[in-house]
Amino acid sequence: MDYSKYNRERLIEIIDELLMLNKELLNEKIQADKLEFAWSGSLGHWYLNLKTKSVVFNPLKIQALGYSMEELPERITYDFFTDKLHPEDYQRTMGAMRSHMEGKTSVYECEYRIQAKDGRYMWFYDRGKITQRDASGKPEFVAGIVFDITEKKEIEQKLIHKNELLEIQSITDALTGVRNRRAIMEELEMRVNQALVCHSPLSIVLMDIDHFKKINDDNGHQYGDMVLKIVATTISELIRDIDSVGRYGGEEFLVVLPNTDRPKAIFVAERIREAVERIDLSRKNCVTISGGVAVLSEETSAELISKADMKLYEAKNDGRNRIKA
Ligand code: GH3
Ligand code: MG
Ligand code: MG
Repeated sequence: MDYSKYNRERLIEIIDELLMLNKELLNEKIQADKLEFAWSGSLGHWYLNLKTKSVVFNPLKIQALGYSMEELPERITYDFFTDKLHPEDYQRTMGAMRSHMEGKTSVYECEYRIQAKDGRYMWFYDRGKITQRDASGKPEFVAGIVFDITEKKEIEQKLIHKNELLEIQSITDALTGVRNRRAIMEELEMRVNQALVCHSPLSIVLMDIDHFKKINDDNGHQYGDMVLKIVATTISELIRDIDSVGRYGGEEFLVVLPNTDRPKAIFVAERIREAVERIDLSRKNCVTISGGVAVLSEETSAELISKADMKLYEAKNDGRNRIKA
């Protein structure tokens, strides 16, 4: 290497850096002889000189990022990596290093993404520690190890996504897409407790498709399934975000209306009943529903449902396609 272009100051800096690195490598060699490092096979070590901000590292990390050692500048500073940090990881990573520098953490430890040469982000697990300080105790040298955890992170992300899907599936009725019975009962339980604590009104409507057996018998089970889906969608579209609907039974839906008194609940139920009656099924028979409204006083959720069920029974006896409260 041609050192003639360097001035005295830079040469001293280089010597200083080499001496520190040398000391570090020697120390490590002694330790490595004593024990098998669990991290062998990782992307290797890095050394950060805090005076010169230069980083010395194993070529594996740079190769993982798609660079060859030849195309890199001779002297690489900390910024070479920090500039490529994912914007969402920048503050966290810098914060982890700062905490360690300030003595708040015994090690610097972080997982972050760095943009590779081809533009995609790779995940790394990085861990380091101040290994040398000046006479006043100021950190001068940090040594660390880094792992490529991209594959592990991708598997983790897939699992998180799958878990989210499973969670949604576990509360959703597969046919209609609304909450299943367990989920709507849990929601009702939560809303009952909330209403009792906050002294706010709570209403429910139990709805049942009229003569659904005949719809099935006349048109087939698949047609019946389609009717169920359309009715569920119609109800969902007519309720507010804080309201909820679930499939309580075969062709029965339970609508939970928080902060809703009797007149408002009757209004909502009537609006749903009318909308269902207007559904154009392009067959002669139109679909209708009956509904029973119940308003919470101080009973349990099961008793509240019984009240709504009794009203629903009345609506059926009175000729169907009506709401009773
Ligand atoms: P009512 O007006 O008194 O409610 O009469 P109904 O015929 O609707 O009531 P009934 O309880 O006699 O029949 C309900 C029917 O709903 C019977 C059952 O086969 C049908 N059913 C339940 N679940 C499903 C489903 O998932 N898909 C289809 N297509 N039909 C279903
Ligand atoms: Mg029924
Ligand atoms: Mg029915």
